[in-house]
Amino acid sequence: MSSIVYMYLPSNNLNIENYDIELQFNSDNAYSYIEDQLDIGYRIPGTQERVNCANYFINKFLEIDSNFTYVLHNFTVYSTECQNVLFKLNENRSNIVILGAHYDSRARATKDLVNKSAQVPGANDGASGCAVLIEIATILYMIKQNLSCQIWFLFFDAEDQGYDEGPGILGWDWCEGSQAFVSDIHYFYDSETENFDCMILLDMVGGENLQFINEQHSTSSLLDELFAIGRELGYISEFPINAIREDIIDDHLAFINFGIPSADLIIKFWDRNPDWPHHHTTQDNISYISKESLKATGDTVEQFIYNNYFADVNDTYTGNYPWSVDKNMLNLDLLISIIIIVAVVGISTILYLYKHQNSEKEVELLKG
Ligand SMILES: [Zn+2]
Repeated sequence: MSSIVYMYLPSNNLNIENYDIELQFNSDNAYSYIEDQLDIGYRIPGTQERVNCANYFINKFLEIDSNFTYVLHNFTVYSTECQNVLFKLNENRSNIVILGAHYDSRARATKDLVNKSAQVPGANDGASGCAVLIEIATILYMIKQNLSCQIWFLFFDAEDQGYDEGPGILGWDWCEGSQAFVSDIHYFYDSETENFDCMILLDMVGGENLQFINEQHSTSSLLDELFAIGRELGYISEFPINAIREDIIDDHLAFINFGIPSADLIIKFWDRNPDWPHHHTTQDNISYISKESLKATGDTVEQFIYNNYFADVNDTYTGNYPWSVDKNMLNLDLLISIIIIVAVVGISTILYLYKHQNSEKEVELLKG
């Protein structure tokens, strides 16, 4: 059903010219940050390992700058203590760009064919996005004076415990952390002087055979631009022209509902996709992580920031800023819209014809 409707929607084929600058993203570093997270253990909500992982991020950012601003956002899910971790770069800039990833790993390998009650290592599903965020923060910190935006590096807890073929944690929904964060977002910025430009979510960005989908909740003008930037960098297979269209419940949704243009860089993880069949299994480990995939993702996000926010280039760059256009319509929304339009046009036509007929009769009567 959804694929039939999506067939008639335009595909993402924006052409842009990337700002000419040497990209610094180092995939060896990013890879090692995944290893670090796996060494911590299973980062399951409510565990000491989850706490240790939050502390790991704090240590990494304090290594970049011992005064790096960070905020811990505590919340509870069914009395389990959870924590989102937010780092702010360039707090003196008013336009905020949010780069996000979830850091919890799934408590149960519900899609594993052998051991469904085992824990998921979450090398790709969780750790990869966080690793890319740390590496990008390291790079952008060095040129922060030349950036015209504030950047938030936001690590979500409690994303990955919902129900698929079984529960991650019984009774938990997906994306608890991002929903809690957006509910409290007014605590983290000054709405009088600051505003949000966009949010980019990285989810499963480090697996082999990386191929992003055209995620349909995402703001299309923002996602299209990321695809165009990636392709321009030569990452044609990672950002395919006719990418698979699907709408995914993920941490960007709460931000979209709050009115922030948001995009989810995510792969086809369902149907045990042969390109990456390890979703929510015990095999989501370091063996299936690819430095090339990390590089494609990191380069693209780094280039996105330069294109839009580096020095004066945004005067000449013709991207989709401020990403206010969203051409995607979800299948249900589209169907409802079509039904309403057909009904309105139909009723109007009937009314017009009826009136027209009556006025002709009146004219005839007058003549008579
Ligand atoms: Zn997951």
